[in-house]
Amino acid sequence: MGNVLFERALGEADDGCLSEEGALSLASAEGEDRRRVMGLADEKRNESVGREASWVFNRNVNFTDVCVKDCSFCSFRRKEGYLLSPAEVVGLGRESRERGATEVTVQGGIHPGLDFGYYREITEGLSATGLHVHAFSPQEVHSISTKGAVSTLRALKSSGLGSMPGTAAEILADEVRREICPSKIETARWVEIVKSAHGLGIPTSATMMYGHVESWSHRVRHMSVLQEIQRETGGFTEFVPLPFVPGRSELRRRTDGGRDDLLVVALARLFLGEEVRNVQASWVKLGREGAVAALRCGANDLGGTLIEEKISRRAGAMEGQSRSPSELEEMIESAGLEPSQRDTLYRAV
Ligand code: SF4
Repeated sequence: MGNVLFERALGEADDGCLSEEGALSLASAEGEDRRRVMGLADEKRNESVGREASWVFNRNVNFTDVCVKDCSFCSFRRKEGYLLSPAEVVGLGRESRERGATEVTVQGGIHPGLDFGYYREITEGLSATGLHVHAFSPQEVHSISTKGAVSTLRALKSSGLGSMPGTAAEILADEVRREICPSKIETARWVEIVKSAHGLGIPTSATMMYGHVESWSHRVRHMSVLQEIQRETGGFTEFVPLPFVPGRSELRRRTDGGRDDLLVVALARLFLGEEVRNVQASWVKLGREGAVAALRCGANDLGGTLIEEKISRRAGAMEGQSRSPSELEEMIESAGLEPSQRDTLYRAV
């Protein structure tokens, strides 16, 4: 049985008002207490979204691996690498549309030779195929903004951008960012761009990359930053916890050895679930077994079919480049849930 603080925190979580302190208390749970945290997260998922778990038919296009940044967790960037033309990106999108995809996710390195026109051509071309264009992280938007992020976002939206991945968030605490991604935008700028996007009617996902140099306090603070944004804008579609995959990155080692994966998902449900109803288990990062387990402790979404995903694969994630709709549905069923296909904005397809 847990101590008084733990029991109080579990009560807070049950009442849907888990504090940061309480979340930290739940995060230190071991053994039977840990199972109780996960069990409660499973219950809360059922209360919030029922026994369904969703997936999206999408394609991922990483248009360049050339990047001027120096994130120490990254295995993807190259000094001399490839660059797809807008027409090639659009061609990949069109092909996946013909195969039934509803969404294309587009992200790339911060290539020094690309200007706004390149990004606009991509959004224009892809949206003309009928796909929902889910593209460009806050870091990418920052890097191509010469006249301020708001006008860049407005121009991207009018050229067909439907929503943005809330990536480049890593851990939203500057002391961590200085250590793992010193040349990336700071927390305040990430928040500013995301809020601007939401204000313009561009929803985003929210992500957290964990398992490197951060502590549980950083993780909880990160979720708290997201919670504050969501209370103000309501613009997050989902929360996606992403475990660090070391690969050939400078950081090399996963600090928690994977022990925290399910607890992070459970705490995401308990801490954020009132504001952000959708918690995604990333099969690319967690692997099949990990993702199925995550669906049993708070997650309600499996992400996308992801035809082609180079970033995690280069980092050495065990999974392949794609999973078929029937494979995703089989995973959801093996977690005891009902599969449902969704679009990017969580509407049934
Ligand atoms: S994580 Fe993104 S911004 Fe950082 S080095 Fe890799 S490609 Fe560049």
